[in-house]
Amino acid sequence: SSPSGVVTRFAPSPTGYLHIGGARTALFNWLYARHTGGKFLLRIEDTDRARSTPEATEKIFEGLRWLGLDWDGDAISQFDRAPRHAEVAREMIARGTAYPCWSTQEEIEAFRETAKAEGRPPLFLSPWRDADPATAPDAPFVVRLKAPRDGETTVSDLVQGDVTWKNETLDDLILLRSDGTPTYMLAVVVDDHDMNVTHIIRGDDHLTNSARQTLIYRGMGWDVPAMAHIPLIHGPDGKKLSKRHGALGVDAYRDMGYPAEAMRNYLARLGWSHGNDEVFTTEQAIGWFDLTHIGKAPARFDYAKLESLSGQH
Ligand code: GLU
Repeated sequence: SSPSGVVTRFAPSPTGYLHIGGARTALFNWLYARHTGGKFLLRIEDTDRARSTPEATEKIFEGLRWLGLDWDGDAISQFDRAPRHAEVAREMIARGTAYPCWSTQEEIEAFRETAKAEGRPPLFLSPWRDADPATAPDAPFVVRLKAPRDGETTVSDLVQGDVTWKNETLDDLILLRSDGTPTYMLAVVVDDHDMNVTHIIRGDDHLTNSARQTLIYRGMGWDVPAMAHIPLIHGPDGKKLSKRHGALGVDAYRDMGYPAEAMRNYLARLGWSHGNDEVFTTEQAIGWFDLTHIGKAPARFDYAKLESLSGQH
């Protein structure tokens, strides 16, 4: 463990280059760990075998190295942990917070159609949720979370404040597929727990996932880490950042010759502020970084600012 006990992580899916948004997420996690004297861990989320490639993993390593975002210990492969994910799913069944489900795709579709026709939310409610284990067929099954049907789930987010969902809007999500492989939801929770992550800092596109993941933590009786969901990056026109706004891969900026120090400064300013300071060193950013000054509004990517910072580093 670390002096402060803080453990952060960057958990990219290796499906392409290191994206500007991912690099910013990595930087915030790294700055917070270095500021607190904690640890910054790297987990490659390569569970999706069809989309993950070793080349993409290499590009992530390269991008982080160029940016000087050193991680503590070895990078962890999520795929390698599949047996552990399956073990947790079985433990949840034993605890009564998950259950095996044999419903077919046709049954699920039919359920949703009927619900819609009757004016109910098209959330699938499995007949296996409360089934007698003695009636279990000898056939492959998925494992579903037994989500509470009543009440609410609140994520106490360090950036967004308390965000609450009615439990009736959160379905019994699949934890383990019928081939025994984990879903993203289960894998993330088990890994963050086992890696002793104390602070999850990631894009706010994951906010709803956090409500669902909270239910998985509770299903295991585990503490939920602190969460900080950072608003996504927009282009100068206020639209979601895309290729139209400029290169999205960090390597492109390296290849254009921007200094890593300027890039760190620039990325830090995408959503975090320290008074009126625009130009600062990485040492200063480590000294100043906090989660309190992450903005609630989407940051705007501004090429001209990167250009001007590059002249000052
Ligand atoms: N692998 C996920 C992604 O790249 C991130 C998961 C997380 O940060 O919890 O979007």
